[in-house]
Amino acid sequence: MKEEFIDRMKKYLNDDFNAFMDSFNEKNVRAIRLNTNVINKEEFESIFDYDIEPIDYIDNAYYLNCDDKMGTNELHHAGAFYCQDPSAMGPISAIDFKRDAKVLDLCAAPGGKTTQVALKVPDGLVISNEIDYKRANALYSNVERMGLKNVIITNNKISDFLPTFEGVFDYVILDAPCSGEGMFRKYDYAMDEWSLEEVELCGKRDLELIDYAYRLLKKDGILIYSTCTYAKEENEDVIDYVMNKYNASYYPINDKLRNKVSKGIDNDNCYRFYPHKLRGEGQFLSVIRKNEDICNNLKVIKKIESSKEFDEFKKKNLKNYPFNIYIKNNYIYHMPMPIELKGLRVISYGVKLGEIEKNRFIPDHFLFKAFPDLFSEEISLKYHDPSIEKYLRGEEIDSYGSNGYGVIKVNNISLGGYKASNGRAKNYYPKGLRNK
Ligand code: SAM
Repeated sequence: MKEEFIDRMKKYLNDDFNAFMDSFNEKNVRAIRLNTNVINKEEFESIFDYDIEPIDYIDNAYYLNCDDKMGTNELHHAGAFYCQDPSAMGPISAIDFKRDAKVLDLCAAPGGKTTQVALKVPDGLVISNEIDYKRANALYSNVERMGLKNVIITNNKISDFLPTFEGVFDYVILDAPCSGEGMFRKYDYAMDEWSLEEVELCGKRDLELIDYAYRLLKKDGILIYSTCTYAKEENEDVIDYVMNKYNASYYPINDKLRNKVSKGIDNDNCYRFYPHKLRGEGQFLSVIRKNEDICNNLKVIKKIESSKEFDEFKKKNLKNYPFNIYIKNNYIYHMPMPIELKGLRVISYGVKLGEIEKNRFIPDHFLFKAFPDLFSEEISLKYHDPSIEKYLRGEEIDSYGSNGYGVIKVNNISLGGYKASNGRAKNYYPKGLRNK
């Protein structure tokens, strides 16, 4: 570990320093968070066969007391849970959200905070942005896996939002890029890449990013600022900058979490998650409210006309549903809210329903994940049924229903789609997602 880092931590932690250093001899903490759109705690606890333990200060989350990889697990494929460091769950569980809120998650990949907040605003909208294209696709994959209907995904610089979205959002989440000191226990590379220059660089960049983030809020809007580092330059100093520049006030976090975390450096309204105090990795959090009188609305576009190819597919395969159809480059989306996204690079306008190819509608995996209950045909299996493993490997399985499209479910949660023909279910599970 680099000397400069050790010296800085000694200054931050005083008497706690040795306990902090001892925490490096322990394994990093693993945890999972449930997708409550598809499963509740009772059902999950009754079927999930790994050693889990509820996290007492975060709803619907568990420590995972084992080393097994979760990526190939059936319930993970089904989007029943998301693997996430418990400290990283802290920022979104720190406050209550209005159910119909408009949320902007600015640095969103791979989607920990987006998939958490999307469940808290079921009647609202999350615009989930990631600057890095590859990471934005990983974010898409997680949103799709969890079948989230209220998320639009973009791939932009934060400043790209200002021309159209200043003063618009009820909540802005800035989980800022940082020097990653809180990840040292988890990833050796985080320690190798660390330098004082990097801390300084990140601190300066985060001043710029938080300024944009704050401007995107409407009056009384809430900014959730977090990092996974301990450096004051990237944490308390960034919050001080906003508090000094704007008419902002601190917003209280809930007692359950406040009683668990440590106070910030010379700032009782900032919160630090230390691995020697809390089972989890390092994290910083502060929540502030905007008081400036500004309130702009998202620009609504008129609902787009329907597609005859999709209408035909619907008639044959789906129950009725008031889709907000948006068509772009032959792809058909269900948009959670019909809003103008001019000037943004959009990865997903909402739920990708499918594609028009040679005058035919080809359903997309996201349709089977987000709207499984609209399909009249389904194959309903129980956790660990051997057919599930076959399906996840991309094989055909038996089908006892009518010919046509349907959904394969594990304990009533969608894994994906199939097309039945003469007693066989042709596999529609995307190749890139299959178990090897
Ligand atoms: N919020 C995510 C989650 O909960 O899964 C983790 C986000 S990670 C801490 C920070 C993200 O910021 C990275 O995905 C990174 O690509 C992105 N990023 C890096 N530089 C950026 C910049 N200049 N502006 C905006 N985002 C940036």
